[in-house]
Amino acid sequence: MQQTIQDHKLKIIEIIDEAPDTKTFRVQIPNGNEIAFYPGQFFMIRFEDNKTFQRAYSIASSPTQKNYIYITMDLVGQFTDKLFKSKVNDFLIFKGPYGKFYFNETMKNNLVLIGGGLGITPLMSIIRYCNDKKLPNKINFLYSIKTPNHIVYSEELKKIKEQNPNLNYTITITRPLEEHNWSGRTGRIDIELLKQNIEDIENSLYYLCGPLEFIKAKIEMLENLGAKKEQIKTDIWGE
Ligand SMILES: Cc1cc2nc3c(=O)[nH]c(=O)nc-3n(C[C@H](O)[C@H](O)[C@H](O)COP(=O)(O)OP(=O)(O)OC[C@H]3O[C@@H](n4cnc5c(N)ncnc54)[C@H](O)[C@@H]3O)c2cc1C
Repeated sequence: MQQTIQDHKLKIIEIIDEAPDTKTFRVQIPNGNEIAFYPGQFFMIRFEDNKTFQRAYSIASSPTQKNYIYITMDLVGQFTDKLFKSKVNDFLIFKGPYGKFYFNETMKNNLVLIGGGLGITPLMSIIRYCNDKKLPNKINFLYSIKTPNHIVYSEELKKIKEQNPNLNYTITITRPLEEHNWSGRTGRIDIELLKQNIEDIENSLYYLCGPLEFIKAKIEMLENLGAKKEQIKTDIWGE
């Protein structure tokens, strides 16, 4: 696929509240335009009125979806504060695509996707893509998140799993409270959970996305289990 980095002026057509302080924007790809990207890649986003104020956002939707793209973001600081004030019909400038953290169909391996917090976004693009294309890759997805209230895309994950025997996923809650009534797994992603979710350590590809300390810890565990550096792809969002 030929990729050219360029600016796309895209209209927000829907804003979805995913969790406290987490929103998804659905932005429209105008008819006749094509935005070529691989699942996992990101775009630099800016507002129309300021060329230098920009941040990176992974595309959460699949490139099989030709009419719109999804981005999902947490309210964190300066940029997201402004982004959260955007309304339906506002425009954003997307520059890209960028990044080597991607999946494409030439990769026949099993995939182990490991996300910390909103690091789920590029992984969700990969899951949606493999599901839409009915690819045979087995996917084990491990999703670590603070509380059940912060989980995003949970209904869609459930639905995909019901239709697609190639997907397995585990959500693990790192800061459970009694009031959450969470009956699933708790605690961080540890070496035991990794072991249970890797069928073939040498022939899998590992996609890790989240904060730096999270990524460092998971790389160490994967290497202890026998994964090689070349098999591990990372997308690091901050310290
Ligand atoms: C390749 C790439 C892809 C990214 N994709 C996404 C995405 O899909 N969704 C998204 O929300 N962000 C994503 N980010 C982070 C995003 O670029 C911004 O850093 C983030 O939105 C904060 O910007 P801000 O100006 O609001 O905060 P700032 O005032 O710039 O604060 C930045 C601080 O926030 C931390 N931070 C970054 N992201 C988060 C987060 N989600 N939760 C808590 N702290 C965070 C950073 O470590 C840093 O210390 C991505 C970053 C990279 C490098």
